[in-house]
Amino acid sequence: MSFEQFSLDPRIVAQIKAVGYSTPTPIQQQAIPRVLEGRDVLGLAQTGTGKTAAFLLPILQRLTQRRSRRVRALIVAPTRELAEQIYQMCLDLGKVTKVRAVTVYGGVSKSSQVSRLRAGVEIVIACPGRLLDIVDDGNLDLSRVEVLVLDEADRMCDMGFLPDIRRILKLLPAQRQTLFFCATMPADIRELADRILKDPVTVQIGKIAPAQTVSHALYPVPPNLKKRLLLSILEQTSTGRVLIFTRTKYRARNLARDLVKRGYRAAALQGNMSQNQRQKAIDGFRSKKYDILAATDVAARGIDVSEISHVINFDIPDTVDAYTHRIGRTGRAHRSGEAFTFAGQEDAQLVRDIEKLLGTQIERRRLANFDYGSFVPENQFKTTYSDPRRKTPSQHRRNHNHANGRRNGPRRRPQRRK
Ligand code: AMP
Repeated sequence: MSFEQFSLDPRIVAQIKAVGYSTPTPIQQQAIPRVLEGRDVLGLAQTGTGKTAAFLLPILQRLTQRRSRRVRALIVAPTRELAEQIYQMCLDLGKVTKVRAVTVYGGVSKSSQVSRLRAGVEIVIACPGRLLDIVDDGNLDLSRVEVLVLDEADRMCDMGFLPDIRRILKLLPAQRQTLFFCATMPADIRELADRILKDPVTVQIGKIAPAQTVSHALYPVPPNLKKRLLLSILEQTSTGRVLIFTRTKYRARNLARDLVKRGYRAAALQGNMSQNQRQKAIDGFRSKKYDILAATDVAARGIDVSEISHVINFDIPDTVDAYTHRIGRTGRAHRSGEAFTFAGQEDAQLVRDIEKLLGTQIERRRLANFDYGSFVPENQFKTTYSDPRRKTPSQHRRNHNHANGRRNGPRRRPQRRK
């Protein structure tokens, strides 16, 4: 299948090629024709599947057919980072057709957003709070919106945005196209989707589980050895960009600081940083100024950096959904990645839940040449620990290479600061 088959404006197709997409991803194959027909869509897909382009391309097609200076498409996203990512893709894919878009979110000056709105835009990409703020000020009219996208709707509900979403819905014309994307389907999301979608087409990409291109590994480790284990893994493993998740802002900050002290090009990404500092960290990660980002879940939402080779769960996530979101940062669209999770016996229940979601047992690893002291990794999660001695020699070799953090190709240390 190719992008030519969608009957998109040739300028848009040319731009898709210029951006570097050769074939549509499965969600794009399924969703784009239906969105172009004007149908409401319920898209069940995690990040990394290409869902953004799946809704942006038909929107660009619609706007290109008839130009106007009114807000005709509204895309609502839970975080500034995700809004920026959608905006960036909108700029990339809409470069030739010059569709005007603006981002609207809190934490930055309202006046520049308002003046861009006043100049006339066709797409507004917004976080709920600031959007309502600007509407309440009388600076934005949503009564002509033709397409509404709710992206990561489940995240928005998790973050308490449901009342804001309900208010936004009241500001929109009843006659519109609605595209609803989420990675999970809890009861409140199902109820919201049922209420606002008219005769929707459901587009689901596989199971609602982490991307298939990611391989998962579990490192049993007690809390006091985590940092040393991380450093040893970084020393021994061939990595590209590494995203490390911690449970708290404080731990993200400290971990980044320790890594920098040891010569790694690392930065923190956590909620106590200003929007400006956060954007700098993300941009630095994207431009390869930093190889490692130590982040909290909230701060890392919506981060769109391709070629993340490793996601390391320094602290296991609080929920299975959070695991899916974290892991969605690697293995994005046709690429592969590795997800390492550090876990102690206290995390046993979450490990079981994640394995249920994955439908398979996560491979246990013990890092070779690492002093675990009296801790015996093989004694943890005992019921499911696979014994490498029972494997065939070739499997054993592969296991050994894994244990040393090696996969394909020669070992390369992460770059140290010059
Ligand atoms: P998303 O799931 O929308 O966050 O997209 C994940 C990543 O996939 C982004 O970096 C996109 O630029 C990339 N992407 C989207 N569509 C394609 C495609 N058809 N081919 C290759 N990469 C894509």
